[in-house]
Amino acid sequence: MQAEFLVSAARPEQFPAESLPEIAFLGRSNVGKSSLLNGLTGRRDLAFTSAQPGRTQTINFYRINDALHFVDLPGYGFARVPGEIRGRWKKLIDSYLTERKTLELCLLLLDSRRGWMEQDLELRDWLEFRGRPYMVVATKADKLKSQQEQHRGMAGIRSQRLDHEPVPFSAVTGRGVREIWQAISKIRTSSQPQ
Ligand code: GDP
Repeated sequence: MQAEFLVSAARPEQFPAESLPEIAFLGRSNVGKSSLLNGLTGRRDLAFTSAQPGRTQTINFYRINDALHFVDLPGYGFARVPGEIRGRWKKLIDSYLTERKTLELCLLLLDSRRGWMEQDLELRDWLEFRGRPYMVVATKADKLKSQQEQHRGMAGIRSQRLDHEPVPFSAVTGRGVREIWQAISKIRTSSQPQ
């Protein structure tokens, strides 16, 4: 697996040229987005994981196997960020999600233990309104210890109508890596007829 950091964009002008198909990663700060990026690429430190949520204010692009871009969007929902900065993030994210022609799939990350929160639902409605394909990934699945807890967590996530099965993921056990890659490769082959 080749995974290479491309660019960190604070403004739309800094986005790389629209070339390879893109998979965008979206979720609240601290949901486990960096850990998912690292888990999918088998790298420990491709994306920076931190105990200080809300720090990343840029959209980070990675080139994967010279075939795809992974696009790490800033985490939302961090209360301590001043309104002005929050407004700037929103504009940056809106601009990417609205205009990017090469965007093929959004991975919408939810914490397995928390399920849908208000901003996740807003984002989901927005993606549906814009006709952007998305897949829900339930992160930190290893934190739900018993079968019953896992069951309840997934049932909560499924209670919002979805046209697909949400995928549990754990950066600790590697659960879900294969399923997520399968979904990614399906999108690519269907969007790129030979
Ligand atoms: P981000 O802010 O969304 O990029 O989240 P990070 O990937 O930095 O993770 C936030 C915190 O959750 C860190 O302390 C991680 O170690 C922890 N974390 C992330 N994924 C998992 C997981 O699958 N299992 C467990 N147990 N902890 C996780």
